[in-house]
Amino acid sequence: DGGKRPDYLAGLNPEQTEAVETLEGPVLVLAGAGTGKTRVLTTRIAHILNTGRAFPSQILAVTFTNKAAREMKERIALLVGGAVEGMPWLGTFHSIGVKLLRRHAELVGLSSDFTILDTDDVVRLIKQLIQAEGLDDKRWPAKQFAGMIDTWKNKGLGPADIPEGDARAFANGRGRDLYFAYQARLTTLNACDFGDLLMHPIAIFRKNPDLLKEYHGRFRYILVDEYQDTNTAQYMWLRLLAQRAKGEPQNVCCVGDDDQSIYGWRGAEVDNILRFEKDFPGAKVIKLERNYRSTEHILGAAAHLIAHNEGRLGKTLFTDRADPDDVKVQVHASWDSEEEARAIGEEIEQLQRGKHLLNDMAILVRASFQMREFEDRFVTLGLNYRVIGGPRFYERLEIRDAMAYFRLVAQPADDLAFERIINTPKRGLGDTTVRALHDYARARDIPMLAAAADMIETDELKPKARKALFDVIQSFRRWQELLENTPHTELAEQILEESGYTDMWKNDKSAEAPGRLENLKELIRSMESFESMRGFLEHVSLVMDAETNENLDAVSIMTLHSAKGLEFDTVFLPGWEEGLFPHQRSLDESGRAGLEEERRLAYVGITRAKRRCHIWFVSNRRIHGLWQSTLPSRFLDELPETHVEVAEMEQSYGGYGRGGYGQSRFDKSEPFANSYSTPGWKRAQANRTDATRDNWGTRSGHAVERIGYGESGPKGRTIDGE
Ligand code: ATP
Ligand code: MG
Repeated sequence: DGGKRPDYLAGLNPEQTEAVETLEGPVLVLAGAGTGKTRVLTTRIAHILNTGRAFPSQILAVTFTNKAAREMKERIALLVGGAVEGMPWLGTFHSIGVKLLRRHAELVGLSSDFTILDTDDVVRLIKQLIQAEGLDDKRWPAKQFAGMIDTWKNKGLGPADIPEGDARAFANGRGRDLYFAYQARLTTLNACDFGDLLMHPIAIFRKNPDLLKEYHGRFRYILVDEYQDTNTAQYMWLRLLAQRAKGEPQNVCCVGDDDQSIYGWRGAEVDNILRFEKDFPGAKVIKLERNYRSTEHILGAAAHLIAHNEGRLGKTLFTDRADPDDVKVQVHASWDSEEEARAIGEEIEQLQRGKHLLNDMAILVRASFQMREFEDRFVTLGLNYRVIGGPRFYERLEIRDAMAYFRLVAQPADDLAFERIINTPKRGLGDTTVRALHDYARARDIPMLAAAADMIETDELKPKARKALFDVIQSFRRWQELLENTPHTELAEQILEESGYTDMWKNDKSAEAPGRLENLKELIRSMESFESMRGFLEHVSLVMDAETNENLDAVSIMTLHSAKGLEFDTVFLPGWEEGLFPHQRSLDESGRAGLEEERRLAYVGITRAKRRCHIWFVSNRRIHGLWQSTLPSRFLDELPETHVEVAEMEQSYGGYGRGGYGQSRFDKSEPFANSYSTPGWKRAQANRTDATRDNWGTRSGHAVERIGYGESGPKGRTIDGE
């Protein structure tokens, strides 16, 4: 139109410009990391608003996390000069789903004030149903069925759609009936689960074509970020809203990268990329190839690594950022994870002295238990950190439970600890008993544990509760006697075993359970560096007290899964060892596909870095007091030598003794030191004759159980405005 082009378009490259300006018709932007996909979406929205093509309320925009939605809102406001009056339909699939469902709840038999059940509620409800059916809930665990329902819902399958074979898998073929019963029960309760936030809107749109048409009229532009990680239900939902009658505008734009599909384990379907072109004929497919984020070395390393995957759509990536000062990707080896945390802490402090902000640094771990070592170290150093996408290590449910046991042993007057674990695992000591104990303790001004000891002598409690309470008190007495003379790590393990707490998670069939068990092992491990149980408890209270102010300059710690879409000047990637990364469970459960998803995760990790990328592996992990040698990750072998260099290892071996730290430590490690004195992961590997890729051996040659690491995906799902 000859007018001045708005500023926000000025910096875009031709392909990006095309993606922003092709506002009519379906558009698929398929491009590698850091090529500006998210920026294209944001600019596109700004452009739509700026040219008056739609009001903010007529744009439907989907992001992968709530955080990403907030950031996108802020950026749009900047681009259009703050004139955006909100964007009511910008959010995650779930948050938009809630909004739709609140409006039309009555169409699926709910009222608009329905409640959204969390995982615990769901499991409790299913358990009731299983029992009501006269089934044995030990043989058919509620958690397992909750997992099946979740999987079905990710695939967009309601009870009526359950294939014969699938239904037979649970409760001798009664899975389907149970699923029906579950949905009916939810309706009676005026409640829904997470999956329903998509399933209900899908049902509503299918049954009410007129209403769907109304929404077609409303949503003039539809945009989706991180499209490669949509699952089938999300795709169905999207297609309903985006696919229009012939002649009507289908202004839908999805951006994604098949190489960054990392949620297959949660039902994401990378094939949705291929479906798009089929379902939206004439879609314009735009490729972006210039990376604006990373140095040539970082990009080269990432590209070479991901080229080892077979199932790829194939893309090229290049950058103009070739600065002779750019450093290669650095690979470091450490003796063990404690030293790894120490070395990374040093590196961070050094960057800090060079005036780099902590905000520009991130540590990305494969499994959440790895965070513990960094948190401990940073508290010791006084380095600010924040954990993104999940609780801090010592704030996790299973860690808090375990700590409550330890506290109560060391400090019998700790009533909060008592209340937390008295019925965890379940012992038939429900609210009534706890209330009675509470009242008794209050009336006499004594701790609840003491009250419990008193009350079992009376007949104020039901016989069953009395018996259970008697057993618990006996256990605590025993543990308290052991406190002074048993090594505290041993005692801690004993407590978790004898209390039934470890078994509780072993019997738990949910996806989180293995990770929780791994965290518990890590907790025991973390106690090793303390003299006593009390010393350890004190340390934890200090860590828990550490500042977590959002505005503070702080290093970010998060899982690789939650790092998607983010970028940092410096990225640290610890724990690149076989079994941890690639993760053993992924390999066991999904074979080659699992390995490729792990490799994509590695690609996501490296491509988060703008200027510096440090990869670490350790030679030993110490588990239950046993040294286990580990193998460097195969992904390290897949990095190109031209873009990678092996960092000097003097930190790791000998002469490191800062503040006298080194001495005792390396005395311990003396027998193994030889295999470790030469830099280079390849050398480290060659020196290791006593372990193979598939089987982790110990130095002493004993067989050791395969270590199952925790899954690292974001656990708590939250919804904006709920
Ligand atoms: P990912 O796949 O990791 O989500 P992405 O493709 O979404 O990456 P963006 O996050 O949008 O990439 O962009 C990466 C970085 O490059 C950002 O800092 C962004 O501001 C910058 N960038 C993108 N396009 C341009 C451009 N045309 N000029 C300058 N910087 C750009
Ligand atoms: Mg992005």
